[in-house]
Amino acid sequence: PDVPVGAILTGAARRWGGRTALHYQGRDISYTELAADAARFAHGLRARGIGRGDVVALHLPNIPEFAVAYYGTLLAGATFSPCNPLLPVDDLAFQLADCGAVAVVTVDLVAPSVAAALARTQVATVIVAGAFGPVDAAQVCDGAFAGRGAAFEDVGAGRPDEPPAVDIDTRRDLAHIAYTGGTTGRSKGVMLPHRNVVVNVIQFSHGATGGTATVDEAGGLVLDAPAGDPDFPIPLGENVLVNVAPWFHAMGTIGYLSNPLLAGSTIVVHPRLDVPAFLADLEKFRATALGGAPALFSALFADPTFAERDLSSVQAIRSGAAPLSHDMIARLEATFPGAIVVEAYGLTEVSMGATANPGNVSGVRKAGTVGPAVADTLVKVVDAGEPEVTDATPGLPAGAEGEVCVKGPQVMAGYLNRPEETAAVLSDDGWLRTGDIGVLDEDGYLAIVDRKKDMLIYNGYNVYPRELEEKLLAHPAVAGAAVVGRPDEAAGELPTAFVVRAGDLAEDDLLAYVNAQVVHYKKLREVRFVDEIPVSAAGKILKRELRDRL
Ligand code: ATP
Repeated sequence: PDVPVGAILTGAARRWGGRTALHYQGRDISYTELAADAARFAHGLRARGIGRGDVVALHLPNIPEFAVAYYGTLLAGATFSPCNPLLPVDDLAFQLADCGAVAVVTVDLVAPSVAAALARTQVATVIVAGAFGPVDAAQVCDGAFAGRGAAFEDVGAGRPDEPPAVDIDTRRDLAHIAYTGGTTGRSKGVMLPHRNVVVNVIQFSHGATGGTATVDEAGGLVLDAPAGDPDFPIPLGENVLVNVAPWFHAMGTIGYLSNPLLAGSTIVVHPRLDVPAFLADLEKFRATALGGAPALFSALFADPTFAERDLSSVQAIRSGAAPLSHDMIARLEATFPGAIVVEAYGLTEVSMGATANPGNVSGVRKAGTVGPAVADTLVKVVDAGEPEVTDATPGLPAGAEGEVCVKGPQVMAGYLNRPEETAAVLSDDGWLRTGDIGVLDEDGYLAIVDRKKDMLIYNGYNVYPRELEEKLLAHPAVAGAAVVGRPDEAAGELPTAFVVRAGDLAEDDLLAYVNAQVVHYKKLREVRFVDEIPVSAAGKILKRELRDRL
């Protein structure tokens, strides 16, 4: 359906009305209330002259105001640009200036970063929510923001609770300018028109199985599936998701905000990972689903109370953003018997996702793969040395390793302000080079081998760290592992592991254990024991930081 992103919420509100959309700190917010709040916020933006073509940055953790401001921005016809609320000031200033944001929505706890970045941006309006209740408008306006501030509550107060009428060209107007995680370099702004985002939400509906949708008489988006389809473990309108996946990241915005809302789910909102509180809510709300990056599952398993919890209500677990090890799949399946474990794959450049194992009961899931391409999407693996990838570039046969390329309606329009970087990854006929190395099997299921940029070269041989990480993680005394290359004059790079121990373990024993299982040039040369492996907000291992340590 050719509808703007705001239609996800307006359609959901008409279909799911009084059902709880968000639960946050003892408060239930119904679909009707959320849609009305978003509509009022949209009118408030319009009253400030913000609309089509303007960028509104959200510098917020997962709190209900995020959902209100996200859909409010889109219903106003403006473009949403998410910022990690814990970004260092320089990075925040860079992002705000790069996307040309005219307004920022923030929360009082992190608002000082916005104040410090402001002079380097074009921001004319700073909207401040209160983490523990409404902020004092007078203080906000007269304080750090020199007349540019507004209290979140005041933006929509007294305004209509039906969205404003706006013209949106769904194929051209940008819904998101989303910055890539920056795991491997400086963040780039990914331009995503409304249509791309809406398509990706539908492709990932029904627990990543994908579905079809129609438009209701008022222009809202509605999933077609019947509510009682026995092939889906959790009927539409009955899903309860306890969520901490950040909404400011592609996986969160689409997979853990719009996806669940379109399906009539209740989202129990956690702004940051507090493991005991997260586990308590899984039990208390009889959660049917949870998901995020594998780092979430490691953190839950590490909690001393984990074994005592009654988590029998969980029927679906979704993983993405980083590799899910074989060891972790086995633990999830043993801990949540009967739950469907679905691994999916994507990147900001494809709105969120490109492939997924199916989430329906009869679907075929293959552990160790990220599933086949989602609907209307082509995936091929090409020789990583190809100068250009187009329709004419042959895909490698099943079983061969190469660079994963994706073509589909969810693929970005390009990087903002970066025509050369866009041309390097996106062809005129729509093929995106992902920078990931993968293998397709005969059934079209994709396995991710590693990132091209994380590959290290030992004496001229390519070594993919992930293979070594899998071996390390299979050792019972290893709780976490990451492998990077240590620069070496003679060999180029030496495979070096950072390891978090879960018990007694000596370096020599671990080296012997891993090296007995790999060919000579992949051998680990050194192990450094650490207390923690650094991960990004989206749950990805920060290899850059580890390389810097070497
Ligand atoms: P940057 O491109 O700026 O370095 P980033 O790569 O972290 O940032 P994202 O779009 O957040 O940007 O992450 C996408 C990447 O995450 C993919 O290219 C892939 O390497 C990795 N990834 C996502 N899902 C999976 C998965 N299921 N298994 C393995 N890797 C995954």
